[in-house]
Amino acid sequence: SGFDSFSLRHELVQAIDEMGYTEPRPIQVKGVPPAMQGRDVLGLAQTGTGKTAAFVLPILQRLLVDRRPGLRVLVVTPTRELSMQVHAEFERLGQFTPLTATAIFGGVPVARQIRALKARPDIVVACPGRLLDLLNQRALSLAEVEVLVLDEADHMFDMGFLPDVRRILKALPARRQNLMFSATMAREIRKLADEVLHKPAVVEL
Ligand code: AMP
Repeated sequence: SGFDSFSLRHELVQAIDEMGYTEPRPIQVKGVPPAMQGRDVLGLAQTGTGKTAAFVLPILQRLLVDRRPGLRVLVVTPTRELSMQVHAEFERLGQFTPLTATAIFGGVPVARQIRALKARPDIVVACPGRLLDLLNQRALSLAEVEVLVLDEADHMFDMGFLPDVRRILKALPARRQNLMFSATMAREIRKLADEVLHKPAVVEL
């Protein structure tokens, strides 16, 4: 299938088959190769296009090729629903790997999330407010994060999360890969992209 050209690890190909994905979506055809090369990516795509797998696959590949302990990937999303969806896609596409992911969001008791972080997941998918709470409590460290994903950046702006996002950026190592997705490119989003992304591959549908 068209997924073969990505040269993904067999554990990921197996999961793609299991999920019944036969051909990559356009956002995946355009976004996976630069992300797998370690480049920053700006993806102009909305939900429903297959954008989640477009960043989940290159991230899982990177973590598998060079196994190392620590929280290596942070995905920031504007809503709890999106956090759960992205977390589920990591679980499904990572089902034949030993990699682990956990979701962090508000509106539910924090104790379970703290316990999940103590198990040292490779990947955290988080909403900004609860993530900052847990950072302030020292329940996690972002010092080892290698890949940052800002998903639905336009909604992050609409919901007033950009100050929180900028606080989170300060807690991340300077040297990292950045993948940012947004359906629209309002001035504020363009500004955030300029701050966060280094020579990004711009992927449009
Ligand atoms: P997303 O835009 O990431 O929310 O994805 C929308 C839906 O498309 C989800 O239900 C995915 O499971 C599904 N999907 C993603 N990539 C593919 C693919 N290559 N083939 C078929 N379905 C896909």
